[in-house]
Amino acid sequence: MTNLATNLKDAVGQFAERPAIRTEDNLLTYAELDRLTTGVAGWLRARGLEPGDRVGLMIPNVAAFPVFYYGVLRAGGIVVPMNPLLKAREVEHCLGDSGARLVLAWETATEEAAAGAKAVGTDCHVVTGATLEDVAGWPVYADVAARDEEDTAVILYTSGTTGTPKGAELTHANMRANASVTASRLFALTEDDVIMGCLPLFHSFGQTCALNTAILVGASLTLLPRFDPTAALKVIERDRVTIFEGVPTMYVALLQAGGGVADTSSLRLCASAGAALPLEVLNGFAETFGAMILEGYGLSETSPAASFNFPERAKPGSIGLPIDGVEMRVVDEAGDDVAAGEVGEIVIRGHNVMRGYWNRPEATAEAIKGGWFYTGDMARQDEDGFFFIVDRKKDLIIRGGFNVYPREIEEVLYQHPGVLEAAVIGVGHPTLGEEVAAAVALKPGTTPGPDELRDYVKARVAPYKYPRHVWLVPELPKGPTGKVQKRDIVVPEDLQ
Ligand code: AMP
Repeated sequence: MTNLATNLKDAVGQFAERPAIRTEDNLLTYAELDRLTTGVAGWLRARGLEPGDRVGLMIPNVAAFPVFYYGVLRAGGIVVPMNPLLKAREVEHCLGDSGARLVLAWETATEEAAAGAKAVGTDCHVVTGATLEDVAGWPVYADVAARDEEDTAVILYTSGTTGTPKGAELTHANMRANASVTASRLFALTEDDVIMGCLPLFHSFGQTCALNTAILVGASLTLLPRFDPTAALKVIERDRVTIFEGVPTMYVALLQAGGGVADTSSLRLCASAGAALPLEVLNGFAETFGAMILEGYGLSETSPAASFNFPERAKPGSIGLPIDGVEMRVVDEAGDDVAAGEVGEIVIRGHNVMRGYWNRPEATAEAIKGGWFYTGDMARQDEDGFFFIVDRKKDLIIRGGFNVYPREIEEVLYQHPGVLEAAVIGVGHPTLGEEVAAAVALKPGTTPGPDELRDYVKARVAPYKYPRHVWLVPELPKGPTGKVQKRDIVVPEDLQ
C-alpha cells in the first residue's frame, strides 16, 4: 500500500540529511521535515482527527505548507488546499462544502479565514513563522495512518468549466502516479536536483509537479512566496536551481527581466503548463537562458498532468503526447472521435483522472462519461499523435456564425515586437452577436498604437478573425497561478 505520506517516510530512509525544503531564511532536511510532520500528525490526532476528516490549508509557499500538508496526510486527513488570498465568503464555501473540521490559516489570511470558518462552524488555527518551533515540541505520531491508495488525499476547489468552485477529489494513487511520471519521464529527476517552487502549492501544478515530485525522489524544493522575476532569477543562482516550472506569464516576465540578472547556468529543464505558451516565448527563453521549456497540459481534475512534450520527443506549439498510463482523444458533440486534424473536445482516461467532484454526483456524471473525463478544451491531433490546443470551449468567439479561437489571434499578436502580453476576447455586437477584441500590454519603450496592432493581425489572418477593437492596458489581470483571467479584463465603456 502506498500513499503520499509513505513517500515522505521512504525518502527519509534514504536521504535523511539531504535538503528537502529551502526558503529565503530556512532549510529543512528530510529528517527535519519528517520530524515536524510527526508533530503535526500527533497534534491533529490529539484533537480527535479521524482518518478521512477534511482539513483546510490556507498557507502560502513557505516551509509551513509542506509541514502541515504532509502532517495532515500522515494523520490520515484529507487536505483542502486554499489560496491564502481568498475572502471570507470563498473560505466559507470551501470549508462548508468540504465539511472541514479545521482550517490552518497563515497569519496574513487570519481575518478572512476566521470569518469564513465561523460562518460554517469550523475551527480556525493560525499558523505563523514561529509555529514550526512549537511543532518541534508537539507529541510525535510516528506512524502513517492507514489510508488506501484509492482513498482521497486532497480536495482541490476549481471552477472547472462552469460557475461555483467544486471540489475535485484526488486520490493518493492519482497524485502519486502523476508525480512519478513527472519525476521519471519528464525530468529524469534525482536527489541532486533542485526544483524551483514559485508555482503556488495550493494549486495542482505546484503541488504535484513540484512538491510531491520532489519528495518522491528526495530532491530539494526552493520555495518563493510570491513570484517576482528578478527575485526568482537570483534564487536560481543562489540555490543552483536545475528545474524551473511555471505558467507562461512567468516565462514572459523572466524574459523581460533578461539574461544578465543572474547566473542561470544550473538550469537543466523547464516546464510550462496551465495556459498556452506562445512560441515566441518558448524560443526566446531558450536563446536567453539556454534551457528548453517543455510544454504540458492538464487540469486540477487530472492531478494535473495529462500530456507533455518530452525532452526526446517534442513539438513546439503543441501540448505533447499523453503521459504514460493516460489516454487522450479528440471527440465531437456525440463523443465520437473526429478525423485527424479536425477540432474537437479533449477527453481523458487514466490514472490521473479524479474520483469525482466531492458530494456532487450530478456534476461528476456530467464531467466523466463512460470512464472519460470531458475537459472543455478544444484541440486537434496531428498525424504523429501530438495534440494542439485550439482554445477552451467557453472562450470560443462566434462572430456572425464564424468560429474565432482567441488563442490563434493571440499567437499573431505575440509575434509583434512591441507586444508583451495579449488577450483576445469577444465583445457584444448588435448584428454579429460577438465581435473580436484584444487587450494588449506593451513592452516598455515600444509605441505601437491600437491601429498598428489591428493592421498587423489583419494582414496575417482571414478577414473575419482580426480584432476590430484593440486597446492598451498596463498589464493583464492574472489569477492566483499567474494565468491571465479573461473574465476580469475591463472592456472600454463604448464597447460594452
Ligand atoms: P486548472 O484546473 O486551474 O489547472 O486549469 C486547467 C485549464 O488550463 C485547462 O482546462 C486548459 O484550459 C488550461 N491549460 C492547461 N494547460 C494548457 C496549455 N498547455 N495550453 C493551453 N491551455 C492550457
